[in-house]
This record gives sequence, C-alpha cells and structure tokens, in this order.
Amino acid sequence: MREAPPNRPAQPHGDHVPVCVHCEATADNPVAVATVHQNSGPGFTLYACQACTPYFPAGEGES
Ligand SMILES: [Zn+2]
Repeated sequence: MREAPPNRPAQPHGDHVPVCVHCEATADNPVAVATVHQNSGPGFTLYACQACTPYFPAGEGES
C-alpha cells in the first residue's frame, strides 16, 4: 500500500519541470527545500519557487 503525501505534485521521474510545493506554480528557478526519504523507494525532492523559499527554512546551516 502506498501513501501519497498530500503536497506531492504529480511529478513523474525523469525529465520534468519542478513545481513549487507552496503555490504549485511552475518554478522558474526551483530551489530544493526538502528531500523526502521513503523506506521503499528513491524518495523525492520538494521544490519551491524563489518567492516561496522563505516559507521553507531549510537552510539552517546557510550563511
Ligand atoms: Zn511558490
């Protein structure tokens, strides 16, 4: 049984345009804000557009 995260955009593996997980718009300059690891599977990366990156304080070690 697979559970789909509610915020997961429909992104097939391979070539695709990252979609912002916050506003769900196509991100021109996508920033990886989170990586979701799954027990069974490769996991996936969540992206946000530049405007939405402040909503994702992932860069704790960032200068
Ligand atoms: Zn956005």
